[in-house]
Amino acid sequence: MTTDLWRTGEAAQMRKRYRQHCEEHHAPCWLCGQPIDYQAAALHPNAFEVDHYLPRRDYPDLALEESNFRPAHSSCNRSRGARDDVLQIGPTTINW
Ligand SMILES: [Zn+2]
Repeated sequence: MTTDLWRTGEAAQMRKRYRQHCEEHHAPCWLCGQPIDYQAAALHPNAFEVDHYLPRRDYPDLALEESNFRPAHSSCNRSRGARDDVLQIGPTTINW
């Protein structure tokens, strides 16, 4: 089992800093383009959540890469994750 960088204290600090940065710039959700409610409680659908442009699952090395961060609604982030699960990594090679 590998360490999930996203669960470390360092990641928590980065998330906090990135959130402040987004809040100062009133950054909208990068998935739906709507404003984010920075006052909303965590896990509220319109609350801020850090999304990863390149998914952590496929690019664990970029989990703490700030240029890979995107501001997203909690709800958009979650529905994107679900969609990724369906699409996965594209069609697999067919063995004839
Ligand atoms: Zn959104």
